[in-house]
Amino acid sequence: MRLILLGPPGAGKGTQAKILVERYGIVPLSTGDMLRAAVAAATPIGLKAKDIMASGGLVPDEVVIGIIADRIEQPDAARGFILDGFPRTVPQAEALDGLLKERGLKLDGVVELRVNESALLQRVEARVAQMQARGETVRIDDTPEVLSKRLAAYRAQTEPLVHYYSERRMLMTIDGMMPIDEVTREIERVLSAVVAAGGKAAGKASARRTAKPGTVGRTPAKRASKSASKSSAKPARKTVRKAAKKAAAKAKPAGKARKAAKKAGKRTGRVAAKAGAAKGRAKADRDTSGRGRKAAQGRGAGTKKAAKKPVRARGKAVRQLTKRR
Ligand code: AMP
Repeated sequence: MRLILLGPPGAGKGTQAKILVERYGIVPLSTGDMLRAAVAAATPIGLKAKDIMASGGLVPDEVVIGIIADRIEQPDAARGFILDGFPRTVPQAEALDGLLKERGLKLDGVVELRVNESALLQRVEARVAQMQARGETVRIDDTPEVLSKRLAAYRAQTEPLVHYYSERRMLMTIDGMMPIDEVTREIERVLSAVVAAGGKAAGKASARRTAKPGTVGRTPAKRASKSASKSSAKPARKTVRKAAKKAAAKAKPAGKARKAAKKAGKRTGRVAAKAGAAKGRAKADRDTSGRGRKAAQGRGAGTKKAAKKPVRARGKAVRQLTKRR
């Protein structure tokens, strides 16, 4: 399995990466950890990165791309890896695509942890306190001032990756505000859909989520898994078709979307998982960085509000539901 964990500093990527590494027997590749090791060892890369990291900026793309290119060549990465903190810019994402392609490898998914920015400072403060209590060295960039710069860097340079991977049907957005174990459960749930890649149970769960968009999060996740188990007697394909028809009917689409809804009956669970995850972004959008409402409306995911939105927005949801097998 090859995954990317995406999310702002303090979103819990490191914590979840550790758990997923155990769960899937893959290696964690954290560019932050690698750079900190390079700084500690005073290597040429470390010397280059030191001040940039201390100020909360991003190390040049070519440096981190080089690090990752070397690292994924290592034998322990052959079984799979989870990238934490990479890519952080669109050029890095493009470079990663190239690196994987050259090696005949594929990404299995991108898990985005969405969090409320106002909680991040508290989280980082808690992390610092825990590290101090354990007698560990505290990161020099874990201060309120540097954190705000890291957040600004995330918004400006990393957040565009949400769109990048969403367009490629790779994005699975999880509400990172839930307790750690619930976040883990939710990640495992969406990943099991990916692993099954068209497996029936995953297909059903995703289809339900697709039918009730805006559902990645605490309550909706429960609702989604509940409805998934309820629907266990029905074939996945039927459920997907029903969901697509429902979405299409709601949108009162013209011929194009109706045609798309028809097609959806042939889709696999994996694509449905991705479409479901992409559509589930509306709620989480509102949780992040204050730009949420606009984003949620723009993406037309299926909150009540979005249901009243113009056909164009819901048409996108239908397209997401129906594109590609
Ligand atoms: P992290 O541990 O992921 O929060 O990263 C700590 C710092 O390392 C960041 O604030 C950046 O200065 C640097 N860094 C880590 N990963 C990258 C990356 N992919 N691109 C650029 N800089 C990075």
